[in-house]
Amino acid sequence: MNKNDSDVIQEILIEENYLPAERIEESDIVLVNTCSVRNHAEQRALGYISTLKKWREKKGKALGVVGCMAKRLAGEIISKYPFVDFILGPDSYRKIPRYLGSIIQGQTKIIDTEVGNELYTGICRKSKKVSDFVSITRGCNNFCSYCIVPFVRGGLRSRPVEDILKEVNELVSSGVKDITLLGQNVNEYHYQGVDFPKLLEIVARETGIFRLRFLTSHPKDFDEEIIRVIKENKNICEWFHLPLQSGSDRILRLMNRKYSKADYLIKIEKIKKNIPDATITTDIIVGFPTETEDEFNETIELIKSIEFDDAYMYRYSYRPGTKAGEYPSLPEDVIKERLKILIEIQSQIIKKKTEQMIGRTYEVLFEEKAENGTRGKTRGNKDVIVTQKLRIGSVYKVLITGVRGRTPIGEIV
Ligand code: SF4
Repeated sequence: MNKNDSDVIQEILIEENYLPAERIEESDIVLVNTCSVRNHAEQRALGYISTLKKWREKKGKALGVVGCMAKRLAGEIISKYPFVDFILGPDSYRKIPRYLGSIIQGQTKIIDTEVGNELYTGICRKSKKVSDFVSITRGCNNFCSYCIVPFVRGGLRSRPVEDILKEVNELVSSGVKDITLLGQNVNEYHYQGVDFPKLLEIVARETGIFRLRFLTSHPKDFDEEIIRVIKENKNICEWFHLPLQSGSDRILRLMNRKYSKADYLIKIEKIKKNIPDATITTDIIVGFPTETEDEFNETIELIKSIEFDDAYMYRYSYRPGTKAGEYPSLPEDVIKERLKILIEIQSQIIKKKTEQMIGRTYEVLFEEKAENGTRGKTRGNKDVIVTQKLRIGSVYKVLITGVRGRTPIGEIV
């Protein structure tokens, strides 16, 4: 979502005749787009902002901090980093050119972090990438107890269908082949009678996009209609990212996730039954406050039985202001140890699943040069490397012949 927001900001500035700089030394304006989802992301952003002090001291420079952390910590940023010129939340990007004008005229310290109903409609980006994102919703209504997103990005808003189609068409005509429709929970998309499965079908059929994906599906809202749409539209990739978060029903309730382990398993079974070749990935949080050893082991047992193709695994991160922030935290060493165990087990599963790719042929869309070859992605979002130097954006059938680290290596067939 943040990468997509950075692209939106870039487009807003380009429309006002600003040019992107290749290197920071050449730039007059720097915008630091920040994430609040975990403490670690905020600490990294704050560390980076400190490094810009010297650059900002030069004449004619302007430094902005934007995004979710800017919304959450505006006061702290302005007092601890007085060299920052402006601080904007995720709904204020359209005003950047106007604020830059004020700064050029000598105004200092602009703070605008109000959450509104912004959808950035009418901003249709061009892209030089092979794969890109198109946002279909902004904000979230779910209030998972550990999550800061609804507080910093506001409630869910769905973008008009025509605006989404226009952006996808624009990206397709600029050469993009793989588009991910993006939302905190895409399943809650609703615009004038069009729900998410319908939108997915419309985009797949009316835009000529080569590959279509979506991110993220909340398991409580994921339904069979999506599976049907994927089966009937060959350009929608059979990749499902369904964040599990925990394998314990008590922890899921405390997380306010609104599904049980059994509900989750039913949805996974439906995917596997209908699309046996589907790639299924997930997110897991370990060390949620009050999680017991047994509850952690329930998560481990579940990941062993489902065998996810990949997983984003995180330690619980305390976010002030959230419901979970009121619960007593587990000791640091317990959280670290559980994350280590989880990563080890999931890595073995990934290794096994990657080795199972050997001898099979996959359609690969090549996206970037790699050391001694070219790197591409399968429909299941798995990286593949071949030794040939191929045109970026080309598509080949690739026979997987081995595995290097975690990455399958193959030959064009
Ligand atoms: S669905 Fe839950 S975890 Fe995802 S953004 Fe919304 S509140 Fe956060």
